[in-house]
Amino acid sequence: MKVENITVIGSGVMGQGIAYAAAVGGFHVQLYDIKRESMDHACQVIQRDLEEAVRRGKLTVQQADAAIGRLQLTEYFDESVKNADLVIEAVLELIDLKMDIFRRLDAICPSHTILATNTSTMSPTEIAAVTRRADRCVAMHFFNPVAKMKLVEIIRGMDTSDLTVAAVRAVAGQMGKETVEVNEFPGFVPGRISALVGNEAMYMLMEGVASREDIDKAIKLGLGYPMGPLELADLVGLDTRLRNLEYLHKTLGEKYRPCPLLTKYVKSGRLGKKSGRGIFEY
Ligand code: NAD
Repeated sequence: MKVENITVIGSGVMGQGIAYAAAVGGFHVQLYDIKRESMDHACQVIQRDLEEAVRRGKLTVQQADAAIGRLQLTEYFDESVKNADLVIEAVLELIDLKMDIFRRLDAICPSHTILATNTSTMSPTEIAAVTRRADRCVAMHFFNPVAKMKLVEIIRGMDTSDLTVAAVRAVAGQMGKETVEVNEFPGFVPGRISALVGNEAMYMLMEGVASREDIDKAIKLGLGYPMGPLELADLVGLDTRLRNLEYLHKTLGEKYRPCPLLTKYVKSGRLGKKSGRGIFEY
């Protein structure tokens, strides 16, 4: 199946990045969010990323203008998905919310539309179960920041068809991404490792093992990580990281118990880079 029109539901950290990659990849993109201010912010970020890509010689001015021309931000859910060949859901990591969105999408979208979730941890089979098109449901897990990260994990649900997997692989390829196919299991591959490493770094910070700067420096220079785990947690969003750990703790067991300091940061509203303050200040 040839995908031309993509709708992204949720314009937060990931939704804005996916919309950017899709527009640059030549797709016609609708970006929907329930919150106007989130879309306004997404618009600024996408514009900034396009300007940066032009400055760095990755896109010409004409290519950046064409990408913007293919992108539309909208507050109207039904309207945004009625011509979609593929919908990529990137709302908060809450199973009930994702299921509710999939139920609504299934009722409105054309019968050929593929429904993908960008969940970091959850079961695409469980989310697809509320639809009558489980063969056309799948998880497409992008990485943050989407504009720079090359990988998309493709996770099949129990009934996902080969045609659906082939179609989303082709979409990811057109966005300039590499794909891996992963069997359904909580947290998939990099997410499971990243949640554990980030949580351990948070415990070290809580225990006073070293300063936040030195924990990150030690992991970067000692283990060759491109980014410190605390800085990465801020980039992911501490609320998102906490939800991921809560789900992994519930499904995979004790070793994923969220560090109490992480919970404290989230309760105090320090959500990371997106809120201007997390483990570090921005
Ligand atoms: P975020 O908090 O930055 O954005 C979520 C967006 O969803 C917000 O703009 C919010 O207004 C919107 N939203 C909430 N309810 C909605 C609704 N009913 N309809 C439409 N929009 C709604 O979250 P995020 O970091 O972008 O994460 C989104 C998804 O991507 C989650 O499932 C997360 O686990 C996954 N993910 C996150 C990362 C990361 O590094 N942040 C990486 C990979 C996958």
